[in-house]
Amino acid sequence: MAASHAEKTHAAPAAPQGGGPRKGTVAVRVVGRPDSLEQRIYLPEVVKGLGVTAKHFFANLFSRKYTVTVEYPEQKVKYPPRNRGLHRLMHREDGEVRCVACMLCPTVCPAHCITIVPEETGNGNEKRPKVFEIDELRCVVCGLCVEACPCDAIRMDTGEHATAVDFRADAILGKLDLLKRGAASTAVQGGVGGDWRAKADKTRDETP
Ligand code: SF4
Ligand code: SF4
Repeated sequence: MAASHAEKTHAAPAAPQGGGPRKGTVAVRVVGRPDSLEQRIYLPEVVKGLGVTAKHFFANLFSRKYTVTVEYPEQKVKYPPRNRGLHRLMHREDGEVRCVACMLCPTVCPAHCITIVPEETGNGNEKRPKVFEIDELRCVVCGLCVEACPCDAIRMDTGEHATAVDFRADAILGKLDLLKRGAASTAVQGGVGGDWRAKADKTRDETP
């Protein structure tokens, strides 16, 4: 279509001797308006567009050939294993919360949606969260809290979505909500077993 348009070309200023475009200049091509009746009324293009729409409509009606959507919520797509769902807090083997209130997750959280108030556990060397809250409305589902946690205390592997709420405050999940969704985890720092330091020392000593 453009080939039949009246076109005027404003040539770029002559290149300097030695070839190559002159720095700081541009070529402007002025494209004329459509001149034939067919081009001016756009009807053939409109008919072509409708043809594509009709083709997809009938193909989907009888064979769903071009359908890329699913009938949610009756039909659900399978989430990939690394999908980030609603948060949960993991338990130790004795049922206690694994979180040691180290404050790494609220520090790394870009949405500032994690609130932790620590308390002493009473054993002299550990803390635990007295309050642990996540505002799921402010969460941007980045997963950084899970990455930052040194003791596998927080996960987002539930496959659950944050539920719709009428009031903003209802979107804040508390410690009990998060623990209810949790499960026992026996992960240890480094993920290689409780005696990881002894093994690492042995490997280092044996390495020539
Ligand atoms: S997923 Fe990201 S935004 Fe959500 S609580 Fe964790 S760190 Fe914050
Ligand atoms: S990073 Fe882990 S251990 Fe530290 S406060 Fe967050 S959930 Fe608790």
